[in-house]
Amino acid sequence: VFVCFEGGEGSGKSTQSRRLATWLRAAGHDVLLTFEPGDTPVGADLRRIVLSPETGALGDRTEVLLYAADKAEHVETVVRPALARGGVVITDRYVDSTLAYQGAGRALDVAEVEAVARWATGDLRPHLTVVLDLEPEAGLARFEGRDRIEAESLEFHQRVRAAFPRMAAADPDHYLVLDARADVDEIEAAVRAAVTPLLPP
Ligand code: C5P
Repeated sequence: VFVCFEGGEGSGKSTQSRRLATWLRAAGHDVLLTFEPGDTPVGADLRRIVLSPETGALGDRTEVLLYAADKAEHVETVVRPALARGGVVITDRYVDSTLAYQGAGRALDVAEVEAVARWATGDLRPHLTVVLDLEPEAGLARFEGRDRIEAESLEFHQRVRAAFPRMAAADPDHYLVLDARADVDEIEAAVRAAVTPLLPP
């Protein structure tokens, strides 16, 4: 079972993915909690390159390919092996982040970016993507030190924010869209309810 959390900065993805992992482990499931970008040795280097303010300007296409390389390594060496042994994989960000940030955010052709991301991942798709929807003003306010992407304009983050519900609307059976301003326990309960039918007995 492959579950993915998506949303803008400060939307609570990390908290909710951790809570889901804790709950599933307590119920005896084999759980792998992971994230993008950066949860492989080469991915950690790629994360530093794409996020460090010291990197400075990076071509949009370069950025797409660096994120795609991170994804390719992540799927091949972390996600697929865990799924193959029957585990539940929870990832904090995945392909939709690339469609939102590099596609909608950078105003690239989303279909082209999607083709790159699908190729990188061998078109591995989550059973469920949880979108934590939040206006960027609220999310960004949670951060002091800003990375290369967080430092983008508000308009950039508004394009990113708008992209996730659009993807959900195009494929409603595989998405759960939640208001990130809701109570954390309420969000957790809604996530559990959506994940329960996907679980092995
Ligand atoms: O989720 P996390 O805060 O670790 O994400 C790291 C950074 O990478 C964020 O600033 C996010 O905006 C950015 N990012 C991105 N494109 C992606 C995935 C993440 O710009 N495809």
